[in-house]
Amino acid sequence: MTDVPSLRAALLDWYDAHARSLPWRAPPGATTKTAPYRVWLSEVMLQQTTVPHAAPYFERFTTRWPTVADLAAVEDAELMAAWAGLGYYARARNLLACARAVTAEYGGVFPQTETELLALPGVGAYTAAAVAAIAFDQPANVVDGNVERVMSRLFALETPLPAARPELRRLAALFVYDDRPGDWAQALMDLGSGVCRPRSPLCDQCPLAFGCEGLKTGTPERYPLKTKKAERPHRRGHAYVLTDGSGRVALVRRPDKGLLGGMAGLPTSDWSAAPEFTPPVDAGWSAAGSVEHVFTHFSLTLEVHVAEGGGDDFLWTPAEEAAKALPTVFRKALERGLAAA
Ligand code: SF4
Repeated sequence: MTDVPSLRAALLDWYDAHARSLPWRAPPGATTKTAPYRVWLSEVMLQQTTVPHAAPYFERFTTRWPTVADLAAVEDAELMAAWAGLGYYARARNLLACARAVTAEYGGVFPQTETELLALPGVGAYTAAAVAAIAFDQPANVVDGNVERVMSRLFALETPLPAARPELRRLAALFVYDDRPGDWAQALMDLGSGVCRPRSPLCDQCPLAFGCEGLKTGTPERYPLKTKKAERPHRRGHAYVLTDGSGRVALVRRPDKGLLGGMAGLPTSDWSAAPEFTPPVDAGWSAAGSVEHVFTHFSLTLEVHVAEGGGDDFLWTPAEEAAKALPTVFRKALERGLAAA
């Protein structure tokens, strides 16, 4: 039988001693909570992105735009360029929409309840709960993949994901008290990322080992069980690196809707099983090899082609600046093309 109060106390004690120091975080037990803007920004950045990768972006964003109102005033293209390299670009568009909504509807002050937070553009159940708990110390049930993993192991849950989700949420809620809900949420995050790791949990260092049913089975890493996924499909495409002979590269602005919407990109073909080679201008195109990239729903091989030429329909951009403004898939293609040019 799992003893929730003892497990809870053990993890909070561990957190008091071992909390990660993160740029967006107040120390354990702090009476002044981290500003909601910083919690929200960090949570959006951390969706699908690791802490070491997100941290420098967070520092840059909060130095450049210290408040949500400052962020709301940014031009779309400027925000997209600052986001380049973080991936999942729909998040950047939602970030701006949310900052503008908080500024227009709430005078630049984040609302405090989960329900109001959830109504903001791009704010899902996880982010609403995280902001309510961490910034406002409300007893919100903050459940992401890390928490699901910890719960499934603590209770040795034999139901596979995704069917196990409602049950895992119910189990996580057992631990949410009115006392220190923000610290509890962060303690679980730290445990999930540093100790109860996906492949090799460090059970000998875990403050919850005394009550972990998964550990008792001898193979805690088996949890959470998963229903087998269909394989990710593969697509191909052509990317065109057109230079003007004086260090500038032809970029295009991608349509607002769809993958990498609103971002700067290289001219490219469609991405499909058999894409057509249709370069944006007639020039002496030569092959420069290929690059691979994995998106959430498919993997991509981009054949890179290079040529020198001109044209009025492009954003002619110095190569160094282009590399910074492009999302990762196009940056890889640009580097490949310039190396072969
Ligand atoms: S004992 Fe091991 S499996 Fe159980 S919660 Fe701790 S790290 Fe995870």
